[in-house]
Amino acid sequence: MKKISLLGSTGSIGTQTLDVVKHHPERFRIVGLSAGSNVDLLIEQANAFKPAVVCLSSKELADSARLHMPAGTTVLFGEEGLIETAAGTDADTVVTAIVGSRGLSATLAAIEAGKSIGLANKETLVTAGHIVMEQAKRKGVKILPIDSEHSALFQCMNGESRKAIGKITITASGGSFRDHTREQLQGVTVQEALNHPNWSMGAKITIDSATMVNKGLEVIEAKWLFDLSYDQIEVVIHPESIIHSFVEFVDHSIIAQMGMPDMRVPIQYALTYPERDETPTEPLNLAKLGALRFREMDYDRFPALRLAFDCGRLGRSAPAVFNAANEIAVARFLKGEIEFLGIESILERVVYAHEVCDMNDLQTIAEVDQWARRLAGSI
Ligand code: NDP
Ligand code: MG
Repeated sequence: MKKISLLGSTGSIGTQTLDVVKHHPERFRIVGLSAGSNVDLLIEQANAFKPAVVCLSSKELADSARLHMPAGTTVLFGEEGLIETAAGTDADTVVTAIVGSRGLSATLAAIEAGKSIGLANKETLVTAGHIVMEQAKRKGVKILPIDSEHSALFQCMNGESRKAIGKITITASGGSFRDHTREQLQGVTVQEALNHPNWSMGAKITIDSATMVNKGLEVIEAKWLFDLSYDQIEVVIHPESIIHSFVEFVDHSIIAQMGMPDMRVPIQYALTYPERDETPTEPLNLAKLGALRFREMDYDRFPALRLAFDCGRLGRSAPAVFNAANEIAVARFLKGEIEFLGIESILERVVYAHEVCDMNDLQTIAEVDQWARRLAGSI
């Protein structure tokens, strides 16, 4: 029986993780759940899964939830509560499905406590990949990717030596506006941007897919997860999202991983690895699909991806600044404060205004992150 603590249980990845757990009650048990502010859903989940601890983002929310929790469930709150939910239970695995770099300290606490990580929260690796990966190595902790592209790459690399890998290609659906020209992006609405063609996901990552920032974050995530150089990472547009990514080996043999786009497959693989188990998902029928299309990434159409590569190559504090500025820009777009194309201009202005520095500890990371957020909020 694998014991799981799930951070961000009320979100898109969180609810799909619980769906996976529900299908294998003999295999998995939930011992911790955390939500931001969706009290009603957290109460429902706690009564269904009876975890030892749950956590909400504030004391007020925790107080309002306490009466409705099952006997034996402790209600925690805030940053400290989140860290306790990540590190203080007897979970074997912590699934990080919170959105944004605020998931960092809880992820580090879980690694320090020796828990395996099922990593969805890519912003933590973009912000502090050097610290997360170094700590995981030191503690002998596995970081198992949940992001579909990285799960695909991980599966393609199974049993292969690092030396055998030539390059990887991350596939991109193209997001909500993949067939729009830059002119057509003027004045697009939040509703249109939230309408992703292939995946149903949280609001932030759906906007990130439309700007191609998500692919940029994934490039940096892949660099850290698989210890690659940026010259070994490519991105190609693949509108069907059937091939989830592929690896080219030094002999030019390519291994790709495919399946219907359904996050429950990579979520479950991160939880059962190295084993596999049945999922309640739809099988892929290639004959019925008929064709798969690919087209070269257009970096002029999607300049935020080029900027992400530039920040990745610069390294040090640059990726953290890119990520923090993006979190604020996306939140502002979702609130209707800025235009869609304003996300890119904010990103560029914050990144260009930043003097890249070393970030050897959490304090410095927090300062850099706050600086970028303040500037992105004021443009
Ligand atoms: P959602 O927005 O759907 O969910 C986010 C979760 O984080 C919710 O449980 C939310 O709680 C919680 N949360 C938000 N703010 C806080 C806070 N201040 N304190 C504590 N918890 C908070 O996001 P997704 O599930 O889409 O994405 C989660 C992560 O997974 C992201 O990093 C994303 O990039 C990554 N990912 C997502 C994929 C997908 O298909 N959705 C695919 C690959 C990666 P509440 O709602 O209760 O406020
Ligand atoms: Mg992805």
